[in-house]
Amino acid sequence: MTDQRSDSDPEVGEPEHAAVGLPAIYWSMKYAMNEMGPKRSLQTLSKMNHIDGFDCPSCAWPDPDRRKAAEFCENGAKAVAWEATRKRVDAAFFAEHSIADLLSHDDHWLEHQGRLTEPMHLPAGGTHYQPISWDAAFRLVADRMRGMASPDRAIFYTSGRASNEAAFLYQLLARRLGTNNLPDCSNMCHESSGTALTQTLGVGKGTVTYDDIAFESKLILIAGQNPGTNHPRMLTALEEAKQRGARIVAINPLPEAGLVRFRNPQTPRGISGVGTKIADEHLSVRLGGDQALFAGLNKVLVERGAIDTDFIERYTDGIAVAAEAWAALDWARIESISGITRAQIEALADDVIANDRVIVCWAMGLTQHKNSVPTIREIASFLLLRGNIGRPGAGAAPIRGHSNVQGDRTMGIWEKMPDAFLDALRDEFGFEPPREHGHDAVASVRAMRDGEADVFVALGGNFPVAISDTEVATEAMTRVGLTVGIQTKLNRSHLHTGREALILPCLGRTERDVTSAGAQFVTVEDSMSMVHSSRGRLLPGSPHLRSEVQIICGIADALFGSDDALDWRAMAEDYGLIRRHIAHVVPGFHAFDERVLHPGGFQLPNGARDSLKFDTETGKGRITTSPLETLEVPPGHLLLQTLRSHDQFNTTIYGYDDRYRGIKKGRNVVFVNPADITALGLNDGQQVDLVSIADDGRERRLPGLRVVSYSTTAGCAATYYPEANVLVPLDSVAAESNTPTSKSIVVRLEPA
Ligand code: SF4
Repeated sequence: MTDQRSDSDPEVGEPEHAAVGLPAIYWSMKYAMNEMGPKRSLQTLSKMNHIDGFDCPSCAWPDPDRRKAAEFCENGAKAVAWEATRKRVDAAFFAEHSIADLLSHDDHWLEHQGRLTEPMHLPAGGTHYQPISWDAAFRLVADRMRGMASPDRAIFYTSGRASNEAAFLYQLLARRLGTNNLPDCSNMCHESSGTALTQTLGVGKGTVTYDDIAFESKLILIAGQNPGTNHPRMLTALEEAKQRGARIVAINPLPEAGLVRFRNPQTPRGISGVGTKIADEHLSVRLGGDQALFAGLNKVLVERGAIDTDFIERYTDGIAVAAEAWAALDWARIESISGITRAQIEALADDVIANDRVIVCWAMGLTQHKNSVPTIREIASFLLLRGNIGRPGAGAAPIRGHSNVQGDRTMGIWEKMPDAFLDALRDEFGFEPPREHGHDAVASVRAMRDGEADVFVALGGNFPVAISDTEVATEAMTRVGLTVGIQTKLNRSHLHTGREALILPCLGRTERDVTSAGAQFVTVEDSMSMVHSSRGRLLPGSPHLRSEVQIICGIADALFGSDDALDWRAMAEDYGLIRRHIAHVVPGFHAFDERVLHPGGFQLPNGARDSLKFDTETGKGRITTSPLETLEVPPGHLLLQTLRSHDQFNTTIYGYDDRYRGIKKGRNVVFVNPADITALGLNDGQQVDLVSIADDGRERRLPGLRVVSYSTTAGCAATYYPEANVLVPLDSVAAESNTPTSKSIVVRLEPA
């Protein structure tokens, strides 16, 4: 909204104690009018998240059965305004701006320039992007891929915005070429959830529905999640639960406004400012301390015998070993690691015992730590101990942060898809897919850094900015032969390129997608495994744009030739063909093309939720626990988490305000507990550099941050990503899931 730079000195005021309200309407409309104008705003916002409309390109919160006229939140409106802006980045723009000049601008400015309009090429040694025809671009990609010594020298990255149809074709292209190098943004976000839930419940997804949260639950624990900013419509479901008498406990180092009170602007109560109190309890947990908290909780439940022995005997295994380990746990250790007292954990156990329908919701606050996988296994044990799986109002709810990140994984975007999927792909398409696991996100950076990659293709996203260890990642990109970006808007990934680069601009979610076979629609899958259609409404932002599907088919056609057994050209024109292939390959998608036309779509099967069938190694729900882990923080250091501001979606910076936390016109702040400020000999408002020291002994520095006194858990601080990704070493990852540990970085605050 302002041309302030992200390094300008921010204004710091009091944080808010309530989320949304009339200001959310004001800011939604301000973004909409500024970017789209009245006509496009009406055309888009009136159809967003509606049955015959398009799916919000932002988070993956599900749609209620009964939708309101305005079925979107402030950050959804910003995301749509950002995509459907009237501004354009065309050939003239690139002629005016060299790479060097563009690099001098910040992320907000880059994306704020508008929608990409035509394919652009950056030749080796070039200083400016130049126009290129689609056919020439496809041939160039095909030539570079054919020139590789091995298919494994290509990497196919996916961000969570790609539709199911595009994602299915993208994995097909990579595997037809002969590689499983299919990293995605899930590797950086909920990979720890998928890993732990697959081990314990036999499915890497949540086991609850919208209605479970809104209409059935009695107690909802919200851990490591900030719904007020990252899943705002969830507040409506939480309000419905509260009005039904459900209790909510927030487990978070920060007292986020959306966890305190919700002023629903679509209700008199919300407009009046009274709103609805969300969390009944706020447990200010230490970063990475959730494992200890849930282990303590499980210890209490077992010791009190407050467990569902019948459920445990029939549907689970592992209780004996786990119970012994919980019994041996030392309360002092639980308290020091979690930052939560025994009394608080005992009180939480009272709550759990008093309510027989318990849901645990979580997001990045749990998944980006070294001990994230054991933490989420501990939560699965917590739910299994009292049979809170597979019945109304109870279960596990990892809330996804990107609109189709779950769908992309379901479509095969994973570097280690199971043989059953690869067998089905072989049977459907008649070629033998590669079986050796490929690179995930972190391994992809290592491969590029080590000169083992010739071609890097990004289906959406802003990879070198989103991944950890920014300096290493951006430098690694320069060691690739060709980088290809399939995006809607200019971003920093177009500036940190290989020796040559292509920008292939695609249609957005809000835009009509018309082929020779007529108007096409795509599908997505939300956090609750609901698969539904999405139909854009606006005319494309430029006549030169192509859909993600058509771009992938264009590359494949150029690479494999028009006589390939796979009819890429036909699939590029008729997405129903793609869905029929999906129906044959992906479990749960039978009669896909018919069922997705049902209003609201259909829900994918989930053994644990639907029938207490646990597709685990033992065929049982696994009750497990792991030794408590904690990061040692040397004296004079703090544990830092990275987070989003309220004016941000992933690496997209809509503006410089973070009004819920009292920050305006700037992003260079670090939130620190007042006692820590004093203990470190610093002052509120002082300028500091954040310095992290990794096992590789190398110092990583984020300079020029203003200390902001904030009620975060003692010993724990917070600042924004992607700027702080520079502090997270590439090799600092969660065990088993390889997810960057962006929520627990040991730092010192050095006076600037
Ligand atoms: S809650 Fe998420 S999906 Fe819904 S409108 Fe907001 S950003 Fe979009």
